[in-house]
Amino acid sequence: MGATGSIGTQALEVVQAYPERFDIQVLTAATNAELLVQQARTFRPRVVVIADESKYLGVKNALRDIPVTVLAGEAALEEVVRDGAIDLVISALVGSAGLRPTVAAIRAGKDIALANKETLVVAGQLVMELVQKHGVNLLPVDSEHSAIFQCMVGEAGATVDKIYLTASGGPFRGKNREYLTSVSCEQALRHPNWVMGAKITIDSATLMNKGLEVIEAKWLFGLQARQIDVVVHPQSIVHSLVQFADGSIKAQLGLPDMKLPIQYALTYPDRVENNFKRFNFVDFPELTFERPDTVAFRNLALAYQAMEAGGNMPCILNAANEVVVAAFLKGNVGFLQMSDIIEETMQRAVHMAAATLDDYMETDRKSREIAVELVTKAKNLYHIAK
Ligand code: NAD
Ligand code: MG
Repeated sequence: MGATGSIGTQALEVVQAYPERFDIQVLTAATNAELLVQQARTFRPRVVVIADESKYLGVKNALRDIPVTVLAGEAALEEVVRDGAIDLVISALVGSAGLRPTVAAIRAGKDIALANKETLVVAGQLVMELVQKHGVNLLPVDSEHSAIFQCMVGEAGATVDKIYLTASGGPFRGKNREYLTSVSCEQALRHPNWVMGAKITIDSATLMNKGLEVIEAKWLFGLQARQIDVVVHPQSIVHSLVQFADGSIKAQLGLPDMKLPIQYALTYPDRVENNFKRFNFVDFPELTFERPDTVAFRNLALAYQAMEAGGNMPCILNAANEVVVAAFLKGNVGFLQMSDIIEETMQRAVHMAAATLDDYMETDRKSREIAVELVTKAKNLYHIAK
């Protein structure tokens, strides 16, 4: 799911390297019909889904000479993951749109390689209950969570003291609020270490990505908020660390390349040979660590607040964030206004202590409405100020 994106295309590169291990059954995309068609020709899935229904005929026509079923629409995403031939679903779409299809896959008993962190942010409790109930493996693709997961292998009996999630700090590390007032989306899109989709790249610049990852880690590893620390590590070599009850710390290291965590999620528990570039210690004589600046980058603090509040609050945070990031990418709100709007949405949306899947969908919708209204107000002021 999300085959045409940054994670999706890299996952297909991994799949291509091991034809004896993997066989693609289904490919899905939102709007990029051209790439989806090209991928279908290369990987020969039985089904492709284009979520954007206006692209259906184009895809259907382009693939009429090969035996593939073409479907369209969001509902089809939930249908296709249930296919009996599927063992594992790579959830690599972006945003809360990933929740329903990922839940459908879990309910159908499929293992999940999870890149779509928003699924756990929005509905972590519910998703983890379903994972338990259906006995599926939920394998992290996010590099930090893959690192923690790799450190935990062989530690079944051990007690975890805490974990440290590393953060690159993004393109504005070390900058103050005054500087951040006028940064553009072009600047924010220039990530120092990773090439990723637009939404997560902006989230990395605001530190919301780390906030979402803290919530993701809470659910994946069953931790309390106080057991999750964030440490800024600009070189992105140490991908995260686990501290055990005896004080011993394990870390996972490597060059920043998402293909490694993707590959591990797909081959777990095996480690499989590859030709990825190797890390060389002398190329990195200094690995440095510092505290995150939550005064300049308030989103990280807001994410901790949402996590502590629990219930549907992380869903509210996430929905507001998706709205403001889209607005920032269009040049309609400033960098710092994103945090203000998220905070106000968290204050105005209705907080529920416990929620069903429908409650989360409704919270997502209502929080977006509030955030859109706040964006519209902010947009007018922002354009006057510019
Ligand atoms: P991307 O924007 O490059 O790709 C997103 C994919 O999802 C595309 O194939 C798109 O067609 C599909 N999609 C988007 N909206 C959809 C919708 N409403 N319905 C159906 N399909 C939809 O994003 P990405 O960078 O690959 O990120 C995907 C997920 O992985 C995100 O949750 C992100 O946080 C996470 N992640 C990404 C990276 C990375 O290096 N890119 C690293 C860690 C985690
Ligand atoms: Mg990450």
